[in-house]
Amino acid sequence: MTALTSEGAGPASGAVTGAEIPGFRGELIGAEHANYDDARAVWNGIVDRRPQLIARCTGTADVVAVVRFARDHDCEIAVRGGGHNVAGTAVCDDGIVIDLSAMRAVSVDPAERTVHVQGGALWRDVDHETQAHALATTGGIVGHTGVGGLSLGGGIGWLMRKYGLTVDNLVEAEVVTAAGAIVRASANEHPDLFWALRGGGGNFGVVTSFRFALHPLGPTVIAGPVFWAAEDTADVLHFYREFVADAPDELGTVVRLGTVPPLPAIKPELHFRPAIAVGCCYAGPVMDGDRIVHPLRRFGSPLVDLLEPTLYVDHQTGLDDTVPHGWHYYWKAMNLTALSDEVIDVVAEHAFRARSPRSYAAMFHLGGAVAQQPPGATAYADRDVAHNIIIDAAWFPDQDDAVSAAETRWARGFLQALQPHRAGVYVNFLDSDDDPSRVREAYGEATYQRLAEIKARYDPENVFRNNKNIQPS
Ligand SMILES: Cc1cc2nc3c(=O)[nH]c(=O)nc-3n(C[C@H](O)[C@H](O)[C@H](O)COP(=O)(O)OP(=O)(O)OC[C@H]3O[C@@H](n4cnc5c(N)ncnc54)[C@H](O)[C@@H]3O)c2cc1C
Repeated sequence: MTALTSEGAGPASGAVTGAEIPGFRGELIGAEHANYDDARAVWNGIVDRRPQLIARCTGTADVVAVVRFARDHDCEIAVRGGGHNVAGTAVCDDGIVIDLSAMRAVSVDPAERTVHVQGGALWRDVDHETQAHALATTGGIVGHTGVGGLSLGGGIGWLMRKYGLTVDNLVEAEVVTAAGAIVRASANEHPDLFWALRGGGGNFGVVTSFRFALHPLGPTVIAGPVFWAAEDTADVLHFYREFVADAPDELGTVVRLGTVPPLPAIKPELHFRPAIAVGCCYAGPVMDGDRIVHPLRRFGSPLVDLLEPTLYVDHQTGLDDTVPHGWHYYWKAMNLTALSDEVIDVVAEHAFRARSPRSYAAMFHLGGAVAQQPPGATAYADRDVAHNIIIDAAWFPDQDDAVSAAETRWARGFLQALQPHRAGVYVNFLDSDDDPSRVREAYGEATYQRLAEIKARYDPENVFRNNKNIQPS
């Protein structure tokens, strides 16, 4: 690969100056730039990659310019949306990062009930604008997660049971392909690409803007967590299984097993106490939500009950400080065949064995509108799975190797114990040390083959390979 520098003059012999990228108006950040280390850092502090150039784009034309330049100079490309992927695929060693972090505009059309979102926006940007109209679409449960990566992998969140996955709400996308062409993908234009974008990840081009369908919501909803002591885990999960099985699609829940986070709303004496929490969000009238969650709040002896009328925007950012940028993270995940007695036993046995009080496991309840789409309607697979689990080991960057070794061992051991109950995996939860075969597992053979054919049409040379990669067929 050609050596790159962001200097405009005097390149080393044979080097290409980034400033020569024809048609590029954004900021170029090379190793000599004062902000280089900030610009190459992603959410997971473990990731330490050194790209030759970070091209912070201002719009679609810049993205086209960089894709063409990178191709002409045989450079590796990474695409950065929110920079949140645990595997750190938003940055590469050497090569160029197409950094969309300056492309965060969000524009709501309340009459059409759609929202245009630039490819580098975060979910808190989207919620902020859409909630000004008491509208929303399904996004992630942490406000600083990027729209780009989350949407392209599927998108699970509090609203999915009522309004479907994020990809089910995608109306159209503007994409810069590997050839540097700008194409629009929708049900009517490039329908093959449109299908692939709805779950196939960043394999098919750079999405410079998305348009999503919106739905009436809030601004106040019944939402928040109820915590019980860790010792009550098996009882809580047995109750929870029946509770969510009968719940209306308006009710989204996520179980979190770890310690009580040190949030201002929680008494300090409970901070970091091992606990199981059921987080809720009711996508409907507050009065109805209050009635629906009543049995959950009455179950057993909660340590803390924060389930109350809450602004949806506040609920969507309530977890942000529990998973900040820069900590070290290591994930293991799988979809579960069912929340069976055996699974509950394994979860109760393993969830609280982590040494770091920042590590936790989370279980999403899917079903509802997610399961109502026919199989194969989009590239997101496993729509019939009702529960998944993600095991998130987390520790401070300055903790010694014994801590990181213990936390990764905990996550692997927990996953191993759940193996008999494995039913695929959500592609966006795969970490860098997951076997590449798990990408196939995430899609299943038929969907993977169809994606590989579309990849061969739009990116035959696998230019976009710093991702959960689909090999062109
Ligand atoms: C704290 C936390 C909470 C999370 N919660 C949820 C959740 O509630 N629901 C859920 O579904 N997932 C969740 N995730 C997983 C999330 O979906 C993935 O981490 C996703 O990759 C994040 O998107 P990003 O744009 O920030 O990623 P990045 O790290 O920026 O990008 C990851 C990959 O996505 C691709 N990509 C990103 N943007 C674009 C674009 N505009 N065009 C083309 N390709 C692009 C690239 O291939 C890139 O390598 C969470 C992750 C974290 C860390």
